[in-house]
Amino acid sequence: MINRYIDPEKINVKEECAEVDEIYAGERVEGISLRGFELVEKAEDVEDGIDLVLNGEIKVAGFHVLVSGDLSEEAVSALEALIGEVLNRIKGVEYKFRKEKVVVNLADMDQKTFECMAKLLYDAFKKIPAVDRVRVKVILDEGEFEKELNYAAKIHEKRENLFRKSEEEVDKFYICTSCQYYLPGHGCVISPERPSPCGTTWTEAKAAEELEVVKYYSPAEKGEKVGSEYEGINSALSAVTEGKINRVSLHSALKNPPSTGLYSELIIFYDPSRDAFGIVDRAYKEKTPLGLTFDEMEKIMVGQQVEGFVGASYVYLKSEKFLQDDGGWKRVYWVSPNVYDYVKEFLDPDILQRLKKG
Ligand code: SF4
Repeated sequence: MINRYIDPEKINVKEECAEVDEIYAGERVEGISLRGFELVEKAEDVEDGIDLVLNGEIKVAGFHVLVSGDLSEEAVSALEALIGEVLNRIKGVEYKFRKEKVVVNLADMDQKTFECMAKLLYDAFKKIPAVDRVRVKVILDEGEFEKELNYAAKIHEKRENLFRKSEEEVDKFYICTSCQYYLPGHGCVISPERPSPCGTTWTEAKAAEELEVVKYYSPAEKGEKVGSEYEGINSALSAVTEGKINRVSLHSALKNPPSTGLYSELIIFYDPSRDAFGIVDRAYKEKTPLGLTFDEMEKIMVGQQVEGFVGASYVYLKSEKFLQDDGGWKRVYWVSPNVYDYVKEFLDPDILQRLKKG
């Protein structure tokens, strides 16, 4: 079952400069691969328009959209999902991952490709009833890109802190079925303390669902907690996955781990020889101490529950409930260098020392 629904009034934008259709949303594109980022921000004094920041050879593509209107910070943050939704519908464009980890694959490109993307984004944002004025900035200049990427990371971190909640404080979690396009029977659970493996937070899922911009986040009453599972989440997952996933322990990689979608930022793996865990990021191309690369592990576990492997986002590493059922950070013995750079800002020095030794 494909339970992916995008409100056509808000998304189905057309421009003569490109072939745009929902059928291209699942297209795998090979050719040029650019680093990207996405950011939507509220700015009351913004004027309608499009800016292309360009200088020489194009190696990066950042998308920064400024909007005015009656929008909460949660809603603005949720609107970021719209960027990928729109751009993925262009023939010859594949937009993957979220926030500062975006990758844009293009079959071909010139300046007009990006002008066209900007126009389509402008039209899509203009269609949101709560949005008044829109300015789309596409940053193709490398120097400017690095500046804006760092700025976007700070805004995203600020939002993370502002929106922080515990699982006990809320009644509902969200289930995302976006990847059912490619992985029938898959669903990701998004709780306040476990963002999706591709990095969508509970607040973003909640706002996206309330704004009805994208409809692949469905709310699920969490129900009673039994052990480390929630009865309501188990039944909701069973319903959206047609019985393929019936039990999930959100904070375990060993027993009923969450199924992992296509865009996982990290993989947490269990190493039986050490009775401990390792964490590898997608950009790490070498073999992990388990003897497998990220890509090899992803092939084994994507779209299903495989005990010993689970996808996660970087933000999950900051969760108070990180791998709670399996012993948390005490049982992690190895992380890839990018993961180390991320966790060194907040982990206990003793744990960092152990991770450094590997
Ligand atoms: S990885 Fe999960 S949360 Fe992310 S788009 Fe796929 S189903 Fe949704």
